[in-house]
Amino acid sequence: MRLVLVGPPGAGKGTQAVFLAEHYSIPHISTGDIFRANLKAGTPLGQEAKGFMDRGELVPDSVTNAMVKDRLTHDDVANGFLLDGFPRNVVQAEVLRAILAEQKSPLDAVLELNIADSEIIERLSSRLTCRGCGAPAPASAQKCDSCGGELYQREDDKAEVIARRLEVYNEQTAPIIAFYRGEGLLITISATGAVSEITERATTALSRIS
Ligand code: AMP
Repeated sequence: MRLVLVGPPGAGKGTQAVFLAEHYSIPHISTGDIFRANLKAGTPLGQEAKGFMDRGELVPDSVTNAMVKDRLTHDDVANGFLLDGFPRNVVQAEVLRAILAEQKSPLDAVLELNIADSEIIERLSSRLTCRGCGAPAPASAQKCDSCGGELYQREDDKAEVIARRLEVYNEQTAPIIAFYRGEGLLITISATGAVSEITERATTALSRIS
């Protein structure tokens, strides 16, 4: 299964990606996680991305596309992958299509998580993230449910940056929905409700294509 997960920040892409990657036994490739790991390790890539991430802007396409192109050459993607947070604009979507056409392994589906703006703001401003594994956690959690790691609030989950991230999503990322609808790949599900309900909705919708 070669799958892209798309939806505004706070729609629950990271949470659903973990379950779906396990369900289909495919690697979860999150460009945000790769950037954060590089930031933590102090690599040149992390330093390049930091300013954009802190402001809620997209890291330039040249940097992001090269990083994804490299990641998609690793052996573990032979049986598929779940891309979370990429593509985030139409140029990236076109680059992804070209990379996969070259590998003769086109996408199977693009799953859109649909959610109202009001709910996004509430979710993001009360979200914590694990310093160890990057998993999201609710504000009430004391430690990470998956690995027991320490929780913190992401710089870009602070109120002033959330507004910009939503603007960036609506201006730059939302157009990929029409792009993928045109390719006949788009599946939209509601991202409201319990995590397990949303996973069930996703696997049911995806079972119709395979
Ligand atoms: P995320 O964890 O997916 O919310 O991503 C966090 C931040 O990483 C974003 O706000 C961007 O600054 C950067 N980022 C992640 N994915 C991309 C991408 N595909 N293109 C450009 N920037 C990205």
